[in-house]
Amino acid sequence: MTSLNFSCLDDYDPNSLSVDRARRVVLDMMAPVRVHERVFVRQALGRVLAEDVVSPVDVPAHDNSAMDGWAVRHADLATAGETRLKNVGTALAGRAFDGKLGRGEALRIMTGAVLPAGADCVVIQEVARAEGDEVIVPPGQRAEQNLRRAGEDLKAGEAAIHAGTLLRPAEIGIIASLGVAEVSVRRRVRVAIFSTGDELCSIGTPLSPGAVYDSNRYTLWGMLTRLGCEVIDMGVVKDRPDALELAFKEASACADAVITSGGVSVGEADFIKQMMAKLGEVAFWKIAMKPGRPMAFGRIRSDGAGGAGTWLFGLPGNPVAVMITFYQFVRPALLKLMGIDPVPEFPLFPARCVEAMKKGRGRTEFQRGILFQEHGEWCVRPTGAQGSGVLSSMAKADCLIVLEPARDKVSAGDTVMVQLMNGLV
Ligand code: AMP
Ligand code: MG
Repeated sequence: MTSLNFSCLDDYDPNSLSVDRARRVVLDMMAPVRVHERVFVRQALGRVLAEDVVSPVDVPAHDNSAMDGWAVRHADLATAGETRLKNVGTALAGRAFDGKLGRGEALRIMTGAVLPAGADCVVIQEVARAEGDEVIVPPGQRAEQNLRRAGEDLKAGEAAIHAGTLLRPAEIGIIASLGVAEVSVRRRVRVAIFSTGDELCSIGTPLSPGAVYDSNRYTLWGMLTRLGCEVIDMGVVKDRPDALELAFKEASACADAVITSGGVSVGEADFIKQMMAKLGEVAFWKIAMKPGRPMAFGRIRSDGAGGAGTWLFGLPGNPVAVMITFYQFVRPALLKLMGIDPVPEFPLFPARCVEAMKKGRGRTEFQRGILFQEHGEWCVRPTGAQGSGVLSSMAKADCLIVLEPARDKVSAGDTVMVQLMNGLV
């Protein structure tokens, strides 16, 4: 396992990292999973293309009409005044006209029908007039209008979709449009998750005094499943060094990444730090953000030997902090592991905040907000209580209000940046 060597990074201070810096450090260390597999086109939805899809055909395959109308020879048309042409037949989509268009001739043609040889212009039916076996075309038609030439979208041999593309319904449709039945995708990223904490209780068991139900494994499972990862749920692990060590070893034996929650705050982290030093290289970060200040990041291995190792994301325990640190750091890292190239920036949009908010200077704060429109302008309202344990604030919200480090307060009416939650997973 090669060294992670955090120390060689410029302006890297584990005790004070900006959100952007932490995201960049994580992202730069990731590399896509190597294994490819071939899947049928429908199974490829949500997967990442491993090899370019090369078009075996021209798209469209034939010159064809883009409109319902008349196929004509542009050279036959008078520049001033109407032109009378002879109606020689009809071409329908899937039923081509058998023959060539001669001088002074017009062919009734429907959208998608093959353009007959000789034609280089389609006159839309709304402007032409049929009279007996003649068609009258007004002046002002342009050569090449209302038609699609073979190979205009894509030439045979050209890459239709590039490796590194996440396959969405549009790409699935393009693949089918080429007549391609199977594509090569990267294997799914395997992510092991477990929760740590002696106070945690799994659903299905009665809640003893002082205990809380473990919700983080469920939000993590949901976010990972939506991202298209394979989730290995390892349950709740007690805050005991031997139990944790065993869990980390098991996770790293089967997963590309392991995500834990809890146990990384200053008071709790000491014995984990010692254990991690045995298992791999893990840095304990204090990120200038709220919620979600402490986070562990690094690489561990199951057997003490070589191998690529398993990425570790030790997220804080508070349920809101888990989701926000996942979105800001783990999500882009997983997209890169999945093979998405380039990893897209998640866009921020300005909105007018209608309520005042407190804000600490020097850190990025993620408040939960609800977007609405007022007088044609996008506005945002905080969801109410913003504690990092208040998971209902995430459920009520449709966006995160991202307050930059330099800001020290928000007054009602100020413009703030928001990140839509829809699309994060
Ligand atoms: P920690 O980061 O371990 O100090 O935990 C911070 C807070 O988050 C504590 O109040 C924990 O009870 C709570 N917490 C930790 N893990 C979970 C979990 N899996 N589900 C719900 N709450 C949790
Ligand atoms: Mg804990």
